[in-house]
Amino acid sequence: MFKNITPQKLTIFISALVSFFNVIIVALYFLLSHTALDYILYLFFFVISFSISYVIIQYLIKRYIYQRIKPIYKVIRKSKLDKKAKIRAEDFNSNFLENLDIEVSEWANAAQEEIATLKSLEEYRKSYVGNISHELKTPLFSIQGYIHTILEDVEDEETRDQFLKRAAVNVDRLITIVQDLDSITKLDSDAAPLDIQAFNMKELSQEVIEDLELQARQKEVKVDFKDGASSAFFVKGDRENIRQVLSNLVLNSIKYGKIKGKTKISFYDLDKYVLIEVSDDGIGVEKKHLAHLFDRFYRVDKSRSRTDGGSGLGLSIVKHIIEAHGQDVNVRSTVGEGTTFGFTLTKATKK
Ligand code: ADP
Repeated sequence: MFKNITPQKLTIFISALVSFFNVIIVALYFLLSHTALDYILYLFFFVISFSISYVIIQYLIKRYIYQRIKPIYKVIRKSKLDKKAKIRAEDFNSNFLENLDIEVSEWANAAQEEIATLKSLEEYRKSYVGNISHELKTPLFSIQGYIHTILEDVEDEETRDQFLKRAAVNVDRLITIVQDLDSITKLDSDAAPLDIQAFNMKELSQEVIEDLELQARQKEVKVDFKDGASSAFFVKGDRENIRQVLSNLVLNSIKYGKIKGKTKISFYDLDKYVLIEVSDDGIGVEKKHLAHLFDRFYRVDKSRSRTDGGSGLGLSIVKHIIEAHGQDVNVRSTVGEGTTFGFTLTKATKK
């Protein structure tokens, strides 16, 4: 009976009850004083009593129940409406207690989810800051060590030059880390929106190969196109961002490739998309690490990556950029045989 009770129904119910008892009392009074009253007068008395009760009860409900519930509504509706959120007029005619119950539990669930997200973001922030300071500490301490040693007691010129060169390598590492952090911060904050244009993927890959010629030559790695990737492949994307993706993948294939190894860039026509793959015949990655390769600061072999000058952010930048294009990046690898990274881009018609 009380399941769908609204304030209005409650007011009517109580008013009717009060009026009924009033009529009974009046009837008893006249019965005891042996005076007979016309039924129409009872009805009239009922109507008067009902009207007065209705006004009083409505006032009391509004004053004592509504006024106390109002702050709750204000709090839970603040996020949905604005500061001036009020209890709506129709609430008086609705099942407001049950509605309030539903709204409060919805609000509590949303608040709980928000708290959980904030907590995990806080955890992430702490470990991110910890990782950054750890990354910066290593080269900084090396630079500090070499410079202090030179200043204090290195007299022979050859040793001094050697120490200066080592300090310079660590300065380069610092710059790589800061540049990668800068890229990832920009990508995170969406500060630079994608500049989508149609371009020739083959041409861009050629430029990346030329840019990394020195690194490839140092390890005698041969970087070129796989058979079938010789023609032009037009894709849609942010050319400079995709250059960074390809550059990170090719550089990794050199860093984690074997001496005199081979890196192949291939393109596959997939109807609406072009699949671009970078394969090497290097050290490969164990299966258990594959799922984490794109995590920030994740390294399979920590010491090796650091000596090769990596920031541990390269692949997370790759993933970020490809996902910003609404596409996917994937990896497959066999230890000792090599690794292949692949990503897709939307096909474009020739410019
Ligand atoms: P970095 O190279 O700076 O350490 P990345 O994010 O580019 O950071 O790569 C993360 C890790 O993934 C590397 O430390 C390395 O262990 C592994 N990795 C990346 N590319 C390759 C590859 N082509 N072959 C083998 N391992 C790779």
